[in-house]
Amino acid sequence: MELIGVLGGMSWESTAEYLRLLNEGARARLGGLHSARLRVATVDFASIAQMQADGDWAAAAAALAEEARSLEVAGAAFVLIATNTMHKVYDEVAAAVTIPVLHLGDVTAAAVTESDLTCVGLLATSYTMEQSFYRDRLAVHGVRSLVPSAPDRNEVQRIIYDELCVGRVEPASRDRLIAISRSLVAAGAEGIVLGCTELELSIAQEHLDVPVFPTTTLHCEAALDRALGLAAT
Ligand code: GLU
Repeated sequence: MELIGVLGGMSWESTAEYLRLLNEGARARLGGLHSARLRVATVDFASIAQMQADGDWAAAAAALAEEARSLEVAGAAFVLIATNTMHKVYDEVAAAVTIPVLHLGDVTAAAVTESDLTCVGLLATSYTMEQSFYRDRLAVHGVRSLVPSAPDRNEVQRIIYDELCVGRVEPASRDRLIAISRSLVAAGAEGIVLGCTELELSIAQEHLDVPVFPTTTLHCEAALDRALGLAAT
């Protein structure tokens, strides 16, 4: 198995999921005592979140590029940026290393198109829902994305940063996420992309009648396929 580089800490609540899913996936694929070969770099999310809030994406890009380089130096065969939002600086991170960086938008779009869907609802941080970097990446693959209303976007943002990123999974917030997802389905979404790596700590396929695309799980599965030589790319 190739060595997988995980660039995480944004937040560590979801990075912990990456580590669990990668290891469980390795055991499921290989059996016995097998586990994933990983190098993990985790940042202090408070400083990255402040850069996001300040719109200082150049500083965030520089910080993540340095972490990605450390993963390459440590021998990683490729890198996962373990957050959808920070794919805002994907190009800068990818340019800082000579190894591939497995884009979460590409992985997600592949899962959507494999399900024969073309229009999804996107639940994510405000940055991901309101800026073009992620939705455009889905669109390159023919996947159209619908986002919630402004008040609902604020609510999803609050649930992510004030609750899920600090380890709070509130039933009332899950109900809100379900209701917001249903409103996107009513507006034409054929599936729901959980486009933030913490969201699947709260909401899952069992809560909705349309296909759900959990990006943390999808990223980990794609990484394992690649590390084991099973991926097409
Ligand atoms: N983990 C989240 C995401 O996937 C949000 C935290 C962040 O801003 O990186 O977008």
